[in-house]
Amino acid sequence: MSKQKVESILSQLDSSPTPRHLVAYLTAKLLQANFVDYSNQEIQNSQSGFIARAGSLVAWKNGKQTSKNGFRIVGAHTDSPGLRIKPNPDGRRFGFNTLQVEIYGSPLLNSWLDRDLGIAGHVVLKSGAIKLFRSVASVARISQLAVHLDREVNERGLILDKHLHLSPAWSSAQKAPSFLTWVAQQTKCTIRDIVQIDAQLFDTHNAAVVGADSSFIASGRLDNQASCWAAISALLESRSGAATQVVALFDHEEVGSESATGAAGPLLEHSLEQIAAVQGISRTGFLETLSNSSCISADNAHAVHHNYPERHDLSHGPIINQGPALKLNSNQRYATSSTSAAMFIAACSKAKVKHQVFVSRNNMPCGSTIGPITATRLGIDTVDVGVPQLSMHSAREVCGVNDLISLQLALKAYLN
Ligand code: ZN
Repeated sequence: MSKQKVESILSQLDSSPTPRHLVAYLTAKLLQANFVDYSNQEIQNSQSGFIARAGSLVAWKNGKQTSKNGFRIVGAHTDSPGLRIKPNPDGRRFGFNTLQVEIYGSPLLNSWLDRDLGIAGHVVLKSGAIKLFRSVASVARISQLAVHLDREVNERGLILDKHLHLSPAWSSAQKAPSFLTWVAQQTKCTIRDIVQIDAQLFDTHNAAVVGADSSFIASGRLDNQASCWAAISALLESRSGAATQVVALFDHEEVGSESATGAAGPLLEHSLEQIAAVQGISRTGFLETLSNSSCISADNAHAVHHNYPERHDLSHGPIINQGPALKLNSNQRYATSSTSAAMFIAACSKAKVKHQVFVSRNNMPCGSTIGPITATRLGIDTVDVGVPQLSMHSAREVCGVNDLISLQLALKAYLN
């Protein structure tokens, strides 16, 4: 069983170099399970459905008594920090054809060096159609300066100029095709058909199980595609019940969530309102329903790093493979309240999985998540949880197999 689950995690990670690829992959799974696609049509009262908007997705299973039992929501984000290709990217320097990139979110920049990189994204065509693409082979590389030309690098640390030092080289031929020509070949479109390109780099190295006991998963984008996997697979496996079960996956968390499809936008609220309306719930009934609802916001946590234990509060630092972490912050960087924490603890005990508690050091402020945004927008009691991981925001991160499977089981217990 857990072998199957691990294979399904790896397959999702390898299929999803961008948020739109992830949404395409997950919607295909939902369609296989007879969820109805309401992305371009009015919601009807079917058993289950979904709305995909660019790199974001809301999917649900209707409950039998939503007005009384509310919505049970699991939220996560689809985007990860990285390097995006600029609109006029082509350059030629000292024998290399190069691409200009823009930094998205806050990646660990050094982690993008000396990797075999692919390019993935989508094009918008003159017809209005959108076409996804990804390179099959590795096509680009950002090379680190040799140690002989940067003698103090190991003592002083690597210093990268964000504008000068991150351009990948992607060919050396005098007459190489432009980036636009290459994208046209990848998408089998003509240059004249392509109006806009949205592209980013990704590590072509596949996701893998590592460790002498096979207890870790290493991959790009574990933050937060690991939680997306746990959320959607929990929804697919859960039985429908009294409450309406909802999974909301948002793009743009890494850049603040304020966008048309981000958690601070109207996507979740509008979806819930429509789901309630087709179940015959009035506007006032809907507001009442929200107060009976709850949300688990799943986003990875910092596991205690064996080489840097001083960076953690060791009484509140999650240990890898000891269970998903309940994330608390009294300054409301996390949305967890006493009641929502109790709800997650109950879900873990129902699923018979362990959980841990994460609070950051007082002199090391934590990042934020979509949890407080959802709680603020909808007034729904929300708990922030996450799988402990190392190397957060690296091009290749690592988390524990047991933690991820435990999170999935806890989410399923919560939805049920
Ligand atoms: Zn995250």
